[in-house]
Amino acid sequence: MKSPPTPRDDEGRATTSPTNAQEVGDHTNGLDYIAGIRRRRAAKHRVPVLECGRHSDPWPCRCYDAAESPERNAEGYYATAQHLIEAGLLPAPNPGAMRTMWRLDVEKRELARYIAERWQVSA
Ligand SMILES: [Zn+2]
Repeated sequence: MKSPPTPRDDEGRATTSPTNAQEVGDHTNGLDYIAGIRRRRAAKHRVPVLECGRHSDPWPCRCYDAAESPERNAEGYYATAQHLIEAGLLPAPNPGAMRTMWRLDVEKRELARYIAERWQVSA
């Protein structure tokens, strides 16, 4: 008869006694990361609520994702794409934003066409 598995003492956590310099560095980075998360959590109670009315920390706020505001997403993509092209770079295609740009106005449609042709994507 098999006995039930015994629980691990460390509950899956990393060892607290590093054996070499690399682990010391990783452990310190981990503590820094956790301290940063705690500072961020504390800060969200100090800073004002964002325009969305639901969040004060912009990092987890997804209130303006493409599904909720395709025009705003397309405007952001358009501005970014213009900036990248002026810098001599080709923006990565964003099919959702490009489809919205297509119907917004001629200038945005032309930029969407320019990006689509260079990436050989169909919008
Ligand atoms: Zn939000």
